Amino acid sequence: MEQELTRATVDPHYTWDVTRIYASDEAWEQAYAALREDGKAFAALAGTLSSGREAILTAISRYAKLEAAMSRVYCYAMMKQNEDTTVGKYQGMLAQAASLASELGADGAFLMPELLALPDGTLEALIDDPDFAEYDAMLRSALRMKPHTLTAREEQLLAMAGDVCGAPENAYDLLTDADMDLGMTRGDDGKKTKLTDARLLSFLNSHDRAVRKAAYVNTMNGYGKLGNAISALYAGQVKADVFMAKARGYESARQAALYPDEVGEDVYDSLIEAVHGGIGTLSEYLRIKKEQLGLSVMHMYDMYVDIDTGFDIRMDIGEAFDTFLKAVAPLGEDYVKDASRALPERWIDVYETKNKRGGAYSCGSVHDTTPYVLLNHKKTYDGLSTLCHEMGHAMHSFYSNKTQPEAKAEYTIFVAEVASTCNEILLSEYLMKQYEGNREAQIMLVGNLLEHFRTTVFRQTMFAEFEHKAHRMAEADKPLTKDSLCEMYYDLNKLYYGGACKVDKEVANEWMRIPHFYSSFYVYKYATGFCAAVALARGILSGDPEKLAAYRKFLTLGGSMPPIEELKVAGVDMSTPQPVCEALDYFAELVGVYSGLLAEE
Ligand SMILES: [Zn+2]
Repeated sequence: MEQELTRATVDPHYTWDVTRIYASDEAWEQAYAALREDGKAFAALAGTLSSGREAILTAISRYAKLEAAMSRVYCYAMMKQNEDTTVGKYQGMLAQAASLASELGADGAFLMPELLALPDGTLEALIDDPDFAEYDAMLRSALRMKPHTLTAREEQLLAMAGDVCGAPENAYDLLTDADMDLGMTRGDDGKKTKLTDARLLSFLNSHDRAVRKAAYVNTMNGYGKLGNAISALYAGQVKADVFMAKARGYESARQAALYPDEVGEDVYDSLIEAVHGGIGTLSEYLRIKKEQLGLSVMHMYDMYVDIDTGFDIRMDIGEAFDTFLKAVAPLGEDYVKDASRALPERWIDVYETKNKRGGAYSCGSVHDTTPYVLLNHKKTYDGLSTLCHEMGHAMHSFYSNKTQPEAKAEYTIFVAEVASTCNEILLSEYLMKQYEGNREAQIMLVGNLLEHFRTTVFRQTMFAEFEHKAHRMAEADKPLTKDSLCEMYYDLNKLYYGGACKVDKEVANEWMRIPHFYSSFYVYKYATGFCAAVALARGILSGDPEKLAAYRKFLTLGGSMPPIEELKVAGVDMSTPQPVCEALDYFAELVGVYSGLLAEE
C-alpha cells in the first residue's frame, strides 16, 4: 500500500500556491485587522445616502471594497484550513473570518434600506450614470427588490421572524446528522457494518444484490421511523416559505424564490413539462440496464449499480491534465493556452493528503489572483472527469475576473454549473472518439453520461416537482402530513420510474433524506444548468464559429447580467422548453448508442 501523503511530504509542485492571496499568515492577520476597522468606519456612513450622488457613490464603492476584501480574507483561511482540517491555527482563522463576515453584514445593514428609501427615479438615474457603471448590476437588483421591500418596522419584524423560520432546517439537520441511527447492514464481505446516509450510495453500487437491497430498505425504514417528525419539520419549512412570500407581496412561494434570479415560473413549469416528455426514453434506458444486469425485475435499489466492463482510465495527474487540454481544444487555442497555466502555476492542490478536506471544488472569488482548484486526484475516470469539471468552473472565473470589475465578476448559482458540465461533456465526446472501436470503453463512457442525465435531469426535476406540489398544497391550506407527503412522492416515482421498475413501497420515504428541500426551489437549477450545458457543448462541437464565440463571451460575463440573459448571450434561451428538449434528444441518441453497444457480442 502507498504511504499516505502529508503536507510535509507532498511535492509542492502539486499543491496550490496561496501566497498569491497573502504572502504569509502574518499578512493575513494584518489584512483581517484592517478590514475590521474599515467595517466600523463604513458603519459611520449610515444616514448619509440621502445627501446626494457623491455620498451614494462613496458608500457603494466602499461597500464593494469591503466585500472583496472579505472574500480574500475568507478564501485564504478556508483554503489553509482545507489543507489540513485538524490544524487548530487555521480552524481558528476560519472561525474568525466567518464571524468577521457577519460583523460586516451588520456594519453594512443600513445600505440596502437607505438605497431603497431614495426618492423614486434616483436608482434608475444612477444605473445609467457612467460613474456607477461598476455597480449597475447591484443597483438593478436593489431596484428589482423594491416592490417587495417593506417599511423599516416591517422589515425588522421579518428579520426577527427569520430566526424562527430557520428552526425546521436546524432541527432537521440535527435530527438526521446527530440523532438518527440507521443501524447495521451487510457489506460486500458478508460482515455487518455501520450504515449511514453518506455510505448508502456505495452500498447501492454493490454488485451483490442482497447488499443493495438491505442497505436501501434499512435506510428508507430508518427515515420512516422518524417520518412524523420529519414531515412536521418539512411542513414548517414550507409554511415559513409561504409566510415570507405572502408578507412580501409575492403571488406564491415559488415566485418569491425564483425572483432574485429573474427567473419566471414558466421556466420551472416548462422544465417539468419537457422532462415528462423524456420519461419514455428514461424507461427504455432502464429496461436496457435491467436486461444487462440480468434482472427479471428492476427494483429501486438496482438503479445505481454500474455495468462493470472492467475498463477504466488510469491517468496520473500529468496525463489527466494533458487529456483535459486536448478535450477542451474545441473551445479555442487561447482557452487551451490559458488553461495550460493551471498546473505549472500551481492553481491546483492535486493530491489527497492526511486530513485534507474531501471532494473537489473551485474557488474563483479573489478577483486579482488566479482561480484555485482543490482535488483529491485518483487515477480513475472519475478523477479525470472531476479535473475537467473543476477546471470548467476555474476558467469561467478566470475570464469573468479578467473582464468584469470586481463588483460584478462573480457568477450566480443559476449559471455556475454550465461551464463545468460543458467541459465534462467535451471530455466524454473526446474520449468516445479516442476509444473508437473499444466496446468496453464505450459502454463505460456512454453509461456514465446516461447516469449523469438520470441523476441530474430526471431525478432533480422530480424533486423540483415534489417541492412545487408541497408548496401548492400549503398555499391551498391542505395539510402536509407524513401520509400526504409520502403518497405524493410515491406517485412521482411511479410516474418517473414505473415504466421500467418495480416502484417499491419504501421509496415513499426517500424525500425525507434530501436536505436540499430546506433550500426551497433550488434543485431545479441543476437540471436547467445541465440541459443548457448539453445544448452549448453540442453547439461548440458542431464547429460553428458563431456558437463558439457566443459561449466564450458567456464565460466573461460573471454576474454582470441576469442569469437567463447571460445564457441567451451564450446561445440558449431557458425561457423556452427548447434547450431541455434538445438535451433530451441527446439523451435519446445516447440510449440508442448504448443499446447498440450492449447488443454487440
Ligand atoms: Zn460544480
